[in-house]
Amino acid sequence: MIYSKSADLFERAQRSIPGGVNSPVRAFRSVGGKPLFMARGEGAHLIDADSNRFIDYICSWGPLLLGHRCPAVLAAIQEALEIGTSFGAPTEREVELAEAIRAAVPSVEMVRLVNSGTEATMAALRVARGFTGRELTIKFEGCYHGHVDSLLVKAGSGMATLGIADTQGVPQGFAATTIALPFNSIEAVEQAFRTHGDRIAAVIVEPVVGNMGCVLPKAGFLEALRELTARHGAVLIFDEVMTGFRLARGGAQELYGIRPDLTTLGKVVGGGLPLAAYGGRADIMQKVAPVGPVYQAGTLSGNPIAVSAGLAMLRQIEAHPEIYATLERLGAAVTAEVPPGVTVNRAGSMFTFFFTPAPVTDWDSAKKADTARFGVFFRAMLERGVYLPPSQFEAAFLSAAHTDQDIQATVAAARDSFALALAA
Ligand SMILES: *Cc1c(COP(=O)(O)O)cnc(C)c1O
Repeated sequence: MIYSKSADLFERAQRSIPGGVNSPVRAFRSVGGKPLFMARGEGAHLIDADSNRFIDYICSWGPLLLGHRCPAVLAAIQEALEIGTSFGAPTEREVELAEAIRAAVPSVEMVRLVNSGTEATMAALRVARGFTGRELTIKFEGCYHGHVDSLLVKAGSGMATLGIADTQGVPQGFAATTIALPFNSIEAVEQAFRTHGDRIAAVIVEPVVGNMGCVLPKAGFLEALRELTARHGAVLIFDEVMTGFRLARGGAQELYGIRPDLTTLGKVVGGGLPLAAYGGRADIMQKVAPVGPVYQAGTLSGNPIAVSAGLAMLRQIEAHPEIYATLERLGAAVTAEVPPGVTVNRAGSMFTFFFTPAPVTDWDSAKKADTARFGVFFRAMLERGVYLPPSQFEAAFLSAAHTDQDIQATVAAARDSFALALAA
């Protein structure tokens, strides 16, 4: 394939934008090569600036559950343009979206709309602190909760990919409010509660992790978090920015049957536009201004364009419950053939091929993966028309727009690419 227009654009971009990208995960630094500049999306496919066509397994890093340019979502955006782009005053649609979120995720009794997943987790944490009057937070190594200062401690996603353990620019005092523990270790959480129990405001967790690659909770782990937080008066926050509406209509909490106190949503809930949300128990959400003393605000929060896109997405999901069985079937098919030396983790439409023979259950086991081999695999897949996340430590995503033909082409490309990577 020829990538010359992308290469030119990348040269130009680097002069005006740090690293040429507006989010670090878009860079190809860890896999070698240069990022592709995209021209257009069509269902499960992406077409780049050089007119190369790819089967897309990034899906905008999660939001595009129904693929690119889903007709119902586009129609809703077009219709919303007629009324205006933002009023800074409430609209009926926001109430409809809040009701649609509550209907899908019953633990969310009240919800506030924001513009990004980062805002959602930042606010959820602040509310948890305001509610409990405590300051400490437990997070898990390799989980990513957006670029909230105090949560950029042993974080996954781009931090894991770039090998930045703890970012500069976060005051020591902020980082000191965070206790980072190994994912899936109930003992570590019990120990932390024994030591700091009455100072812990919240436990925040990706119930199924996507941001160190896909890592599933061990049986009993989420239940233990529920039990320990309840016992010690801490708020359990499920960060479902990635898993919400993706693993099930009600997210990972529906799948695992756990009711968290607060939930953060993003990605799918915005239908591909900048929209996210946080919500949960009414007694906790009543702490949010203007009813309560915890301040959180947003000029463009709940703007009619993003809200309409999100609402259209949620209505599609409601009308087509069968998409989850389809996504499960496609997910099983695309990960069915994995050679020895590679470990595949998958939850529904999220999956990662780890270049390690050992099970991957937390950050310590994830980071044993051979990232050089992953780079070879990634580049070979790209050459064969398959666009994967450019990092060993990111989950790949399917959409309901992927077809059996896409999957067959991907499996064939993977067969060659695995062989090349494992021979390297
Ligand atoms: C993507 C993500 C975020 C951050 O969302 P942004 O919209 O990128 O700010 C937070 N938490 C999780 C689990 C995510 O996957």
